[in-house]
Amino acid sequence: MNIIWFRNDLRLYDNKVLCSAIADAQQRNAAVVGLFIATPDTWQQHNMAAIKQDFIRRRVVCLKQELAQLNIVLHTLEGTDYAATCDVFAQVQQHYKIKVFVQTDYELDERLRDHKVTACLESAGNELISFDSQCIMPPGSICTQQQTMYKVFTPFKRNWLSRLAEQGVQCLPKPKTLNVANGQLVDLHLTAYSTMQNGDNSSIKWPVEQNEIIDQLRDFCQHKVADYEKKRDFPAISATSKLAAYLAIGAISAGQCVARLQLEANDTWSLAKTGAEVWLSELIWREFYKHILVAYPDLIKHHAFQTETDNIRWSQDQTLFNAWCSGNTGYPLVDAAMRQLNQTGWMHNRLRMITASFLVKDLQLDWRLGERYFMSKLIDGDFSANNGGWQWAASTGTDAVPYFRIFNPITQSERFDPKGDFIRLYVPELASLDAKAIHWPHKNTQLSTAISDIKSYAAPIVDHAQARKITLALFAEVKKTD
Ligand code: FAD
Repeated sequence: MNIIWFRNDLRLYDNKVLCSAIADAQQRNAAVVGLFIATPDTWQQHNMAAIKQDFIRRRVVCLKQELAQLNIVLHTLEGTDYAATCDVFAQVQQHYKIKVFVQTDYELDERLRDHKVTACLESAGNELISFDSQCIMPPGSICTQQQTMYKVFTPFKRNWLSRLAEQGVQCLPKPKTLNVANGQLVDLHLTAYSTMQNGDNSSIKWPVEQNEIIDQLRDFCQHKVADYEKKRDFPAISATSKLAAYLAIGAISAGQCVARLQLEANDTWSLAKTGAEVWLSELIWREFYKHILVAYPDLIKHHAFQTETDNIRWSQDQTLFNAWCSGNTGYPLVDAAMRQLNQTGWMHNRLRMITASFLVKDLQLDWRLGERYFMSKLIDGDFSANNGGWQWAASTGTDAVPYFRIFNPITQSERFDPKGDFIRLYVPELASLDAKAIHWPHKNTQLSTAISDIKSYAAPIVDHAQARKITLALFAEVKKTD
């Protein structure tokens, strides 16, 4: 029997694991079943956001129906943690000779889990077959002339693009329906994964049916991508694809995104300086961080890429951290952004950069605190992108922003939310302020009068100019001893 063990590839289209398992089963006249194992304790340990867990649950429900149309049964089980996944296969192989098909995972616990499952399967003459299909170009395939991983994005991107021009992007179609429904598993005496709504329906605004997801991609490529470069930095405008959540759980593949972009752009790869080129660049950033993670596995243990920055004496001030988390720093755009994250499970990219910079360079808090908090709230939480984004903002990572380039949260606000529309959406205390005053309501007494009705809004928790000096000194200290 072939088992398709779905993890971060919850889709039918462009799914190498699914297609290979079916082709192999047909060749051998074997049965094929799908398997999904929820592991709530491990998800908790990994700070997976409740909204992401709910999103996965809803997507699994759809996947089960979509697979049923192909005559494939998706069995959904719950084992507390990754260790329990071994038990599942140990039980299954008491009854069947099995081949387990999976997509390769890159993070540490996931790799350990797969080693253990492989050992368990091999001990009974069974096997785990992995497909490295999270990226269009698998980690290790885009290297310098010395066969090492790039440490800087631009040459990586150049190489990636020339590889794409050579090989193009081929998306696998949805598999054909099997002739007969097959592959029921015997009762395994394992806990079934409850895919019923269990009170937390927090991801409900995110469609999960495959056709809706594909429509969202098509709509973005047809109607929004042309203006992406111009509008993507303005959080009050909905100008980005909002596909990261789907990419994170593999409800859509990067290949599908690029193939659709190519189709709609209708101009092969001479897309110089258009929105499409910039959007493609973002998808390449996603791959860059995955390649980096595989090449530098220490990152998974939360070490800084620039190792000397691990010596920075970060503050541990819990009060400052709580103010940042709850959106009460007194810096309006930072607060609006954090409240967007807390209320919706998503935050605009420009705001992720601004809030991350604020945590590290205005509050001098350890970037790992922010990394963990984002993970615990984001619907699109993805280790490599989140770690990469945080280390970029903290000036500790590969290709990071230089440490002396410190975002000014007020000028960023004036530039990227010029009318204050985004701030008004999430900081209602400031809604009555005009486009000029809203970015810094603490400025002068005249404005203070204007904000007498917004007494409840926080006073600034730090002085940016002073904080900047402290941060520069902290970095200078470790850079000197380099
Ligand atoms: P679009 O602008 O439409 O971009 C298209 C796709 O490209 C995204 O869906 C995403 O898959 C990828 N992408 C875009 N920007 C980046 C980037 N900088 N790095 C890697 N991939 C990128 N992205 C995540 O997917 N998960 C995270 O946990 C995450 N955490 C972040 C933390 C910080 C501090 C920062 C600065 C960025 C983080 N990002 C993360 C990257 C980026 O902010 C999001 O991918 C993006 O905002 C998601 O919105 P979108 O789907 O509309 O993106």
